Amino acid sequence: MLGAPGAGKGTQAEILREHVGLTHISSGDLFRENVSKQTPLGKLAKSYLDKGELVPDDVTVQMVMDRIVKPDCARGVVFDGFPRTEAQAKALGAALAKEGKQINGVLLVSVRDEFLIQRLTARWVCPTDGAVYNLLTNPPKVAGRCDKDGRALEQRNDDQPDTVRRRLAVYYTQTKPLIEYYRAAGLLREIDGEREIGQVQSDVVKAVERL
Ligand code: AMP
Repeated sequence: MLGAPGAGKGTQAEILREHVGLTHISSGDLFRENVSKQTPLGKLAKSYLDKGELVPDDVTVQMVMDRIVKPDCARGVVFDGFPRTEAQAKALGAALAKEGKQINGVLLVSVRDEFLIQRLTARWVCPTDGAVYNLLTNPPKVAGRCDKDGRALEQRNDDQPDTVRRRLAVYYTQTKPLIEYYRAAGLLREIDGEREIGQVQSDVVKAVERL
């Protein structure tokens, strides 16, 4: 899944996990897990996450490569938030080719900036199960509580307005060039991410089934 922060990549990747059985790999979630467990990787990554900057490519690629060799990835995965630079895309392509594997498609979820800022600053997550809510587009049934386990929802540190603006700037300079990179490879499918979640979901599932 390719797209700006807040485009809905994580929500749609979760839907693909449930409906198509692909393992959802979110590089952001992997980093946050390491930060909360205070692993060496987490300690290194934390300052980048706090500032909304990208973690260096070599560290990120190694973390994702270590994840995709696990048995639950054998049937295929959906990447969310990775790759985010051309160097990461090239490293991923080369690593997959070595294993006789490939990227089947890249779904670009497009959402305009003004909606991204609104969405990110209205995003709340459950600290225990990672469920993501949005006060504007996908509110919890009971205000401030997770639908699944009733825990109090929290905001991500990097969903504060200043960090959100920095993350969007980083997306435009470092990640957006991947759109042309994957378009040139004939892999890009564009999805209008501004519609209601269910409509986006049906396009995403159809696009993946066609792949
Ligand atoms: P996300 O949850 O995808 O918005 O990612 C949160 C933060 O994790 C980003 O702002 C970066 O600091 C870091 N991060 C996630 N994925 C990557 C990646 N592919 N390359 C570098 N940094 C990343």
